Amino acid sequence: MKEFKHFINGKYVGSAGGKTFENRNPVDNSVIGIVHEGGREEVDAAVAAARAALKGPWGKLTQAERIELLNKVADRINERFDEFLEAECLDTGKPRKMAAHIDIPRGAANFKAFSETLANHPTEGFRLDTPDGKGALNVGHRTPKGVVAVVAPWNLPLLLMTWKVGPALACGNTVVVKPSEETPATTTLLGEVMNECGVPPGVFNVVHGFGPNSAGAFLTEHKDIDAITFTGETRTGEIIMKAAAVGLRNISMECGGKNPAIVFADCDLEKAVEGTMRSAFVNCGQVCLGTERVYVERPLFDAFLKRMKEEVAKLKPGRPEDPEANFGPLISLEHRDKVLSYYKLAEEEGATVEIGGGIPDMGEALQDGAWIEPTIWTGLPDEARVIREEIFGPCCHIRPFDSEEEVIALANDTRYGLAAAIWTENSSRAVRVAEQMEAGLVWVNSWFLRDLRTAFGGAKQSGIGREGGVHGLEFYTELKNICIKL
Ligand code: NAD
Repeated sequence: MKEFKHFINGKYVGSAGGKTFENRNPVDNSVIGIVHEGGREEVDAAVAAARAALKGPWGKLTQAERIELLNKVADRINERFDEFLEAECLDTGKPRKMAAHIDIPRGAANFKAFSETLANHPTEGFRLDTPDGKGALNVGHRTPKGVVAVVAPWNLPLLLMTWKVGPALACGNTVVVKPSEETPATTTLLGEVMNECGVPPGVFNVVHGFGPNSAGAFLTEHKDIDAITFTGETRTGEIIMKAAAVGLRNISMECGGKNPAIVFADCDLEKAVEGTMRSAFVNCGQVCLGTERVYVERPLFDAFLKRMKEEVAKLKPGRPEDPEANFGPLISLEHRDKVLSYYKLAEEEGATVEIGGGIPDMGEALQDGAWIEPTIWTGLPDEARVIREEIFGPCCHIRPFDSEEEVIALANDTRYGLAAAIWTENSSRAVRVAEQMEAGLVWVNSWFLRDLRTAFGGAKQSGIGREGGVHGLEFYTELKNICIKL
């Protein structure tokens, strides 16, 4: 039985009140361990440690020294790759080969990519003419924001947490992380790595717990937090924005999506099928960038639907370590209830269930896990709730369209604006349509192909601000102008 403690000021500590909760494995609902639930006391201690480190040893390091430490952190995660992999797969149930390919290597890379980008980014300088003819120099100077609260989700736990912690630390901030209650393991393990690499105590802190009336709320409401970076549901983002309003704290929000894929008849069918299979079903559909609405130009509709159904039928659910398995469970039974409620709603709203729609028979050993069938629907009206609300499960609706104008309007007819995928071999059309997508990220003939130097974030209710590359500088630093009269 594992025990997940908070990591505060370089030490693992339990909750003062002794409050804990269970961490369960979604593969079979077995108990992995107990997690300490942080209250105000632990949040206070973590924020105080982060503040002290900012003023103390961390704040005194040069940028080069900081970057050297963060590079060591990345290397050490890779050295302990198997432990991170094991921990991530236990918490999420995702196929080991997926986590080995994406979650852990990208989780480590986040500590290197940003430090290099930020180190090579210049600040601005202007020479100003003055009436005495001698002039003045303006020099931009960036300082860390301060103590940053990082509130993370469960779908890509290490990757999405370090996506924020990497640039935050590279810019000289200190952090208090609240991982999702569903996935405490890799964030806890990262504390050991920080100590092994000589990152000063208090720079990286972790407090476990839930959202409302628990560690999440106590952290985001804390008056000594300077900025909050959040990834999760739009509804939670709204609550955190209200908390951030007190004291006018800066926020960065990466929230939900209801992302479209547009498949034109002139696409490479096999590429489009392969890409849409990934965008709809990878990680059991629990990817914010995932596709839940697919629009296919009418001449290709039947062929595309047929190929998708053939591929879905080939998905093989199984334990993370099963080399044949390429499809894991949902994160929890509670989340499965939510997804299943949409499966039921789809039928009530008039969908044709093309494939899936229920719970698979996984045999006795796995029958208590959060398994669910990958599902494709057709025939829903555009105003159906299943078309408008984020489900965050392995499902998509496929609908025919007749013109470019029509499909652009359909794709944009959503309160979300995170990502879109366009499948066509006509590059003029690809650019024309991409430019009209109301989304922060558009992929053409690909999906989730990420260059860490580029901007990442959502439009409309999918988020506020951009992270990634130098864009994170705006959030993670304070830009000061120093004006020097000559
Ligand atoms: P969630 O909003 O339920 O929880 C996210 C985090 O917020 C958790 O750590 C949770 O404990 C905490 N939290 C919940 N209520 C809180 C409160 N009142 N105050 C402070 N903290 C609180 O989201 P989730 O279910 O963990 O993740 C799935 C959601 O995340 C989906 O909507 C998905 O689209 C979104 N997501 C977005 C991105 C992106 O980059 N845009 C990436 C991944 C996931």
